[in-house]
Amino acid sequence: MDRVTTFGGHRTDAPPARVVPMSDRTFKPIESPDSTTVFPYHDLTPPTLSQIYRMRALMQSHLPRSPLVRSDILSERLDADVYLKREDTLPTGTFKVRGGIALGHDLDERFREQGLIVASTGNLGQGVAYGGREFDVPVVIGVPEGANPSKVAAMERLGARVEQRGTDFDEAREWVESRAVDEGYRLVSPGNDRNLLAGIATAGLEVVEDRSDVDVLVNPIGSGSSATGYCLTVGKLCDADVIGVQSEDASAVYEAWKGGHLKSKESVSTFAEGLATRVPFALTMQVLREDLTDIVLVSDEALRQTIRLLLEEEHILAEGAGVASVAGALQLGDELRGKTVVLPISGRNIDAETLAAVLE
Ligand SMILES: *Cc1c(COP(=O)(O)O)cnc(C)c1O
Repeated sequence: MDRVTTFGGHRTDAPPARVVPMSDRTFKPIESPDSTTVFPYHDLTPPTLSQIYRMRALMQSHLPRSPLVRSDILSERLDADVYLKREDTLPTGTFKVRGGIALGHDLDERFREQGLIVASTGNLGQGVAYGGREFDVPVVIGVPEGANPSKVAAMERLGARVEQRGTDFDEAREWVESRAVDEGYRLVSPGNDRNLLAGIATAGLEVVEDRSDVDVLVNPIGSGSSATGYCLTVGKLCDADVIGVQSEDASAVYEAWKGGHLKSKESVSTFAEGLATRVPFALTMQVLREDLTDIVLVSDEALRQTIRLLLEEEHILAEGAGVASVAGALQLGDELRGKTVVLPISGRNIDAETLAAVLE
């Protein structure tokens, strides 16, 4: 397994490190079960249902509820009762804002001055920036060079400081982790962060409130945070099957899940940046291994076709990762016949250039 963590790895172009009392163990990482950096404040136990219910009350005072809408077109195609959970309608355009609210609200006093730091290809950063703004917490976001410009602009508009570091998500993540060590920011882990997962899991409670008879929920997997949330809510409370979807060109979690390990991949490539993670996280993998029914792989071409399908037939505009649930369901086909199926539309943040290429 390639451990690529660069504790304290200074770069010459990095801002000068703030002096942090080395006696404060908070800023020293602990032994990590995977190849990401973990601090003592990262609780690696899955959120409990009661914690998720408490978060649900918090979300109600900060976010609109996302609608669960029947799709006649997909119901007909799949000969099933199909509902779309419209997470794309939330502020910032994705479910990740739920995690941002949870983190901003629960921030430990020790981190109030420095605030939160997070690596992101765009959507998690926007969610955390939104949560930071709600609770007046500073936010620094490390994005890969050449990150989606409309997502970068959105993060800056929400008041976050955006730094372009590294060539892909995981290099940006390593930069962010070393800043958290050196400068005492509260590191947001996309997969090993119990608070974040509890916030994100509130989407599943909303689904259960709307329909308690869900048979199958199909959901995209990047770091696995949202699939974990659905396993812990819809999976448990409706006894539903939760099925994950990854891109066949970015299958790190799929392989780790099937193989029972936490190995990173050297590189992944998909235009659906929400799915482009090459490092499995210990906490989400623990839940997914226990509770996820299956993972299906879809091609990038299938994701493009599904963006077109949703736009032309449902008049919903979603990004590549945002339609992965629908692409996965179409691939499952007959297996879903006669069932009540929920497909979260996880995000809408597609830029005009990508959309133009998809529609060509
Ligand atoms: C982050 C993201 C995903 C993947 O979710 P994870 O919780 O990281 O597995 C899917 N779709 C969109 C739009 C995203 O932003």
